[in-house]
Amino acid sequence: MTNLLMTDMTDEKLYGLCKQYGACALEARRKFMGLLPEVQRRHLYAKKGFGSVKEFAAKLAGVSEEQVRLVLRLERKFEDKPVLKIALTGGAISVNKLARVASIATTENQEHLAKMASLLPNRALEVFVRDVKEDTRTSLRCVRAMHVHSNPQQSLPDVNLLESMDTDLQKNLIERLKKGIDINQLIKELLQKHDEEIAVEKEELANGENGKVEHEKKASRYIPAKIRYHLQSEHGTKCTISTCEKSATTIHHTQRFALSQNHDPNFLAQLCREHHTIAHSIDRTYWEKRQM
Ligand SMILES: [Zn+2]
Ligand SMILES: [Zn+2]
Repeated sequence: MTNLLMTDMTDEKLYGLCKQYGACALEARRKFMGLLPEVQRRHLYAKKGFGSVKEFAAKLAGVSEEQVRLVLRLERKFEDKPVLKIALTGGAISVNKLARVASIATTENQEHLAKMASLLPNRALEVFVRDVKEDTRTSLRCVRAMHVHSNPQQSLPDVNLLESMDTDLQKNLIERLKKGIDINQLIKELLQKHDEEIAVEKEELANGENGKVEHEKKASRYIPAKIRYHLQSEHGTKCTISTCEKSATTIHHTQRFALSQNHDPNFLAQLCREHHTIAHSIDRTYWEKRQM
Protein backbone atom coordinates (compact mmCIF):
# COMPACT_ATOMS: atom_id res chain seq x y z
CA MET A 1 0.00 0.00 0.00
CA THR A 2 2.67 2.48 1.06
CA ASN A 3 4.91 1.45 -1.84
CA LEU A 4 2.11 2.02 -4.30
CA LEU A 5 1.58 5.53 -2.96
CA MET A 6 5.33 6.19 -3.04
CA THR A 7 5.65 5.28 -6.72
CA ASP A 8 2.69 7.48 -7.62
CA MET A 9 4.36 10.47 -6.02
CA THR A 10 5.91 13.09 -8.32
CA ASP A 11 9.59 14.00 -7.90
CA GLU A 12 8.57 17.44 -6.69
CA LYS A 13 6.26 16.02 -4.04
CA LEU A 14 8.91 13.57 -2.87
CA TYR A 15 11.55 16.31 -2.72
CA GLY A 16 9.11 18.58 -0.87
CA LEU A 17 8.50 15.93 1.79
CA CYS A 18 12.26 15.31 2.16
CA LYS A 19 12.92 19.02 2.68
CA GLN A 20 10.02 19.38 5.10
CA TYR A 21 10.98 16.40 7.27
CA GLY A 22 14.68 17.23 6.99
CA ALA A 23 14.10 20.74 8.34
CA CYS A 24 12.05 19.35 11.24
CA ALA A 25 14.75 16.77 12.03
CA LEU A 26 17.49 19.41 12.06
CA GLU A 27 15.50 21.74 14.26
CA ALA A 28 14.67 18.98 16.74
CA ARG A 29 18.34 17.95 16.82
CA ARG A 30 19.49 21.52 17.56
CA LYS A 31 16.94 21.78 20.39
CA PHE A 32 17.95 18.41 21.83
CA MET A 33 21.63 19.39 21.79
CA GLY A 34 20.78 22.65 23.55
CA LEU A 35 19.28 20.75 26.49
CA LEU A 36 22.40 18.67 27.14
CA PRO A 37 24.31 21.16 29.34
CA GLU A 38 21.34 21.29 31.72
CA VAL A 39 21.02 17.48 31.64
CA GLN A 40 24.68 17.33 32.63
CA ARG A 41 24.32 19.93 35.41
CA ARG A 42 21.41 18.06 37.03
CA HIS A 43 22.95 14.62 36.45
CA LEU A 44 19.59 13.81 34.91
CA TYR A 45 21.20 11.02 32.88
CA ALA A 46 22.14 9.17 36.11
CA LYS A 47 18.72 9.67 37.67
CA LYS A 48 17.25 8.05 34.57
CA GLY A 49 19.66 5.11 34.52
CA PHE A 50 22.22 6.21 31.89
CA GLY A 51 25.95 5.83 32.52
CA SER A 52 26.87 9.28 31.23
CA VAL A 53 25.50 12.27 29.37
CA LYS A 54 27.18 10.85 26.25
CA GLU A 55 25.27 7.58 26.55
CA PHE A 56 22.10 9.59 27.22
CA ALA A 57 22.57 11.61 24.00
CA ALA A 58 23.54 8.60 21.89
CA LYS A 59 20.61 6.47 22.99
CA LEU A 60 17.93 9.15 22.89
CA ALA A 61 18.96 11.01 19.75
CA GLY A 62 21.91 9.28 18.07
CA VAL A 63 24.21 12.22 18.89
CA SER A 64 27.92 11.40 18.76
CA GLU A 65 30.30 11.73 21.74
CA GLU A 66 32.26 14.36 19.90
CA GLN A 67 29.17 16.53 19.43
CA VAL A 68 28.27 16.18 23.11
CA ARG A 69 31.76 17.30 24.14
CA LEU A 70 31.46 20.23 21.73
CA VAL A 71 28.12 21.44 23.07
CA LEU A 72 29.33 21.24 26.69
CA ARG A 73 32.54 23.07 25.82
CA LEU A 74 30.67 25.81 23.94
CA GLU A 75 28.23 26.34 26.77
CA ARG A 76 31.15 26.98 29.16
CA LYS A 77 32.81 29.23 26.62
CA PHE A 78 29.63 31.29 26.24
CA GLU A 79 29.28 31.74 30.02
CA ASP A 80 29.90 35.51 29.70
CA LYS A 81 28.20 35.81 26.27
CA PRO A 82 24.47 35.44 26.95
CA VAL A 83 23.34 36.07 23.37
CA LEU A 84 25.36 33.15 22.02
CA LYS A 85 24.53 31.01 25.03
CA ILE A 86 20.80 31.42 24.47
CA ALA A 87 21.25 30.68 20.75
CA LEU A 88 22.94 27.43 21.79
CA THR A 89 20.65 26.26 24.59
CA GLY A 90 17.47 27.31 22.77
CA GLY A 91 18.58 25.47 19.63
CA ALA A 92 18.25 28.56 17.41
CA ILE A 93 21.70 28.06 15.82
CA SER A 94 23.49 24.77 15.19
CA VAL A 95 26.41 23.67 17.35
CA ASN A 96 28.68 23.50 14.30
CA LYS A 97 27.99 27.10 13.30
CA LEU A 98 28.44 28.31 16.89
CA ALA A 99 31.73 26.42 17.10
CA ARG A 100 32.94 28.39 14.07
CA VAL A 101 32.19 31.78 15.61
CA ALA A 102 33.34 30.78 19.13
CA SER A 103 36.99 31.44 18.29
CA ILE A 104 36.33 35.12 17.52
CA ALA A 105 33.48 35.75 19.99
CA THR A 106 33.74 38.59 22.51
CA THR A 107 31.19 40.16 24.82
CA GLU A 108 31.07 43.12 22.39
CA ASN A 109 30.54 41.28 19.11
CA GLN A 110 28.34 38.42 20.32
CA GLU A 111 25.15 39.94 18.97
CA HIS A 112 26.64 40.56 15.52
CA LEU A 113 28.08 37.03 15.41
CA ALA A 114 24.76 35.45 16.37
CA LYS A 115 23.10 37.39 13.56
CA MET A 116 25.73 36.35 11.01
CA ALA A 117 25.61 32.71 12.11
CA SER A 118 21.87 32.56 11.63
CA LEU A 119 21.97 34.38 8.26
CA LEU A 120 24.93 32.74 6.54
CA PRO A 121 25.18 29.19 5.23
CA ASN A 122 28.08 27.14 6.63
CA ARG A 123 30.68 27.85 3.94
CA ALA A 124 30.07 31.60 3.83
CA LEU A 125 30.24 31.67 7.64
CA GLU A 126 33.63 29.95 7.49
CA VAL A 127 34.92 32.65 5.09
CA PHE A 128 33.43 35.39 7.28
CA VAL A 129 35.23 34.07 10.39
CA ARG A 130 38.50 33.82 8.45
CA ASP A 131 38.13 37.46 7.32
CA VAL A 132 37.61 38.66 10.89
CA LYS A 133 40.71 36.73 12.01
CA GLU A 134 42.70 38.14 9.09
CA ASP A 135 41.62 41.65 10.08
CA THR A 136 42.86 41.08 13.61
CA ARG A 137 46.19 39.78 12.32
CA THR A 138 46.55 42.75 9.97
CA SER A 139 45.93 45.28 12.71
CA LEU A 140 48.40 43.44 14.94
CA ARG A 141 50.97 43.58 12.14
CA CYS A 142 50.35 47.31 11.73
CA VAL A 143 50.88 47.86 15.43
CA ARG A 144 54.11 45.85 15.34
CA ALA A 145 55.31 47.68 12.21
CA MET A 146 54.80 50.98 14.00
CA HIS A 147 57.11 49.83 16.77
CA VAL A 148 59.81 48.64 14.37
CA HIS A 149 61.12 51.76 12.66
CA SER A 150 64.13 50.25 10.96
CA ASN A 151 62.96 48.23 7.96
CA PRO A 152 59.81 49.39 6.23
CA GLN A 153 60.20 46.83 3.42
CA GLN A 154 57.14 44.61 3.14
CA SER A 155 57.44 40.87 2.72
CA LEU A 156 56.25 39.66 -0.69
CA PRO A 157 53.27 37.36 -1.10
CA ASP A 158 54.06 33.81 -2.11
CA VAL A 159 53.78 34.30 -5.91
CA ASN A 160 56.47 33.44 -8.45
CA LEU A 161 56.46 36.52 -10.65
CA LEU A 162 58.91 35.17 -13.23
CA GLU A 163 56.95 31.95 -13.68
CA SER A 164 53.86 33.90 -14.72
CA MET A 165 55.79 36.00 -17.26
CA ASP A 166 56.30 34.52 -20.75
CA THR A 167 59.85 33.85 -21.98
CA ASP A 168 59.82 36.50 -24.73
CA LEU A 169 58.90 39.17 -22.27
CA GLN A 170 61.60 38.03 -19.85
CA LYS A 171 64.20 38.12 -22.67
CA ASN A 172 63.02 41.55 -23.70
CA LEU A 173 63.40 42.89 -20.17
CA ILE A 174 66.83 41.27 -19.72
CA GLU A 175 68.06 42.90 -22.97
CA ARG A 176 66.94 46.31 -21.76
CA LEU A 177 68.52 45.66 -18.39
CA LYS A 178 71.84 44.84 -20.12
CA LYS A 179 71.63 48.11 -22.06
CA GLY A 180 71.44 49.90 -18.72
CA ILE A 181 67.77 50.84 -18.99
CA ASP A 182 66.09 51.26 -15.60
CA ILE A 183 63.44 48.57 -15.99
CA ASN A 184 61.94 49.28 -12.57
CA GLN A 185 61.20 52.82 -13.65
CA LEU A 186 59.92 51.60 -17.02
CA ILE A 187 57.46 49.16 -15.47
CA LYS A 188 56.38 51.72 -12.89
CA GLU A 189 55.54 54.15 -15.70
CA LEU A 190 53.60 51.51 -17.61
CA LEU A 191 51.60 50.57 -14.54
CA GLN A 192 50.90 54.19 -13.76
CA LYS A 193 49.69 54.74 -17.32
CA HIS A 194 47.43 51.71 -17.01
CA ASP A 195 45.98 53.06 -13.74
CA GLU A 196 45.36 56.43 -15.35
CA GLU A 197 43.59 54.84 -18.32
CA ILE A 198 41.37 52.87 -15.99
CA ALA A 199 40.54 55.99 -13.99
CA VAL A 200 39.58 57.90 -17.17
CA GLU A 201 37.52 54.98 -18.45
CA LYS A 202 35.76 54.66 -15.11
CA GLU A 203 34.92 58.35 -15.13
CA GLU A 204 33.46 58.00 -18.63
CA LEU A 205 31.45 54.94 -17.77
CA ALA A 206 30.11 56.57 -14.62
CA ASN A 207 29.15 60.00 -16.02
CA GLY A 208 29.89 60.15 -19.74
CA GLU A 209 27.68 59.74 -22.82
CA ASN A 210 27.88 55.96 -22.78
CA GLY A 211 26.85 55.75 -19.20
CA LYS A 212 23.93 58.13 -19.59
CA VAL A 213 22.53 56.41 -22.68
CA GLU A 214 22.69 53.10 -20.86
CA HIS A 215 20.97 54.51 -17.82
CA GLU A 216 18.26 56.43 -19.61
CA LYS A 217 17.39 53.73 -22.11
CA LYS A 218 15.94 51.43 -19.53
CA ALA A 219 17.42 50.46 -16.24
CA SER A 220 18.31 46.81 -16.72
CA ARG A 221 19.95 44.58 -14.17
CA TYR A 222 22.18 43.25 -16.93
CA ILE A 223 25.67 44.74 -16.67
CA PRO A 224 26.90 45.88 -20.13
CA ALA A 225 29.96 44.12 -21.57
CA LYS A 226 32.13 47.25 -21.58
CA ILE A 227 31.56 47.72 -17.88
CA ARG A 228 32.44 44.06 -17.25
CA TYR A 229 35.67 44.49 -19.27
CA HIS A 230 36.48 47.62 -17.35
CA LEU A 231 36.10 45.83 -14.01
CA GLN A 232 38.35 43.01 -15.20
CA SER A 233 41.08 45.38 -16.40
CA GLU A 234 41.05 47.05 -13.01
CA HIS A 235 40.55 44.09 -10.67
CA GLY A 236 41.52 41.03 -12.74
CA THR A 237 39.40 37.91 -12.39
CA LYS A 238 39.67 37.38 -8.64
CA CYS A 239 37.32 38.28 -5.83
CA THR A 240 37.70 41.98 -4.89
CA ILE A 241 38.14 41.22 -1.17
CA SER A 242 41.85 41.78 -0.57
CA THR A 243 42.46 38.63 1.49
CA CYS A 244 40.48 36.32 -0.81
CA GLU A 245 42.09 34.34 -3.61
CA LYS A 246 39.00 32.77 -5.12
CA SER A 247 37.74 33.55 -8.62
CA ALA A 248 34.96 36.09 -8.85
CA THR A 249 31.60 34.61 -9.82
CA THR A 250 29.29 37.61 -9.50
CA ILE A 251 29.33 41.36 -10.01
CA HIS A 252 27.69 42.83 -6.95
CA HIS A 253 26.06 46.26 -6.72
CA THR A 254 27.41 47.84 -3.55
CA GLN A 255 24.57 50.35 -3.72
CA ARG A 256 21.25 48.58 -3.99
CA PHE A 257 20.43 48.42 -7.70
CA ALA A 258 16.75 48.95 -6.99
CA LEU A 259 17.62 52.40 -5.60
CA SER A 260 20.54 53.45 -7.80
CA GLN A 261 19.25 52.01 -11.11
CA ASN A 262 22.68 52.22 -12.70
CA HIS A 263 25.91 50.33 -13.21
CA ASP A 264 28.39 53.00 -12.14
CA PRO A 265 31.64 50.98 -11.84
CA ASN A 266 32.47 52.89 -8.66
CA PHE A 267 29.70 50.93 -7.01
CA LEU A 268 30.32 47.50 -8.49
CA ALA A 269 32.48 44.74 -7.04
CA GLN A 270 33.48 41.34 -8.41
CA LEU A 271 32.98 38.77 -5.68
CA CYS A 272 33.32 35.04 -5.13
CA ARG A 273 30.23 33.08 -4.14
CA GLU A 274 30.92 33.20 -0.38
CA HIS A 275 31.76 36.90 -0.21
CA HIS A 276 28.69 37.67 -2.29
CA THR A 277 26.53 35.84 0.26
CA ILE A 278 28.30 37.75 3.03
CA ALA A 279 27.88 41.07 1.20
CA HIS A 280 24.12 40.62 1.22
CA SER A 281 24.06 39.83 4.92
CA ILE A 282 26.18 42.49 6.53
CA ASP A 283 25.92 46.12 7.33
CA ARG A 284 27.59 48.72 5.14
CA THR A 285 30.37 49.80 7.50
CA TYR A 286 31.65 46.25 7.79
CA TRP A 287 31.52 45.87 4.02
CA GLU A 288 33.36 49.10 3.19
CA LYS A 289 36.16 48.24 5.60
CA ARG A 290 37.00 45.14 3.61
CA GLN A 291 37.06 46.57 0.11
CA MET A 292 40.35 47.19 -1.62
ZN1 LIG B 1 24.86 41.24 -5.00
ZN1 LIG C 1 35.99 36.11 -1.94
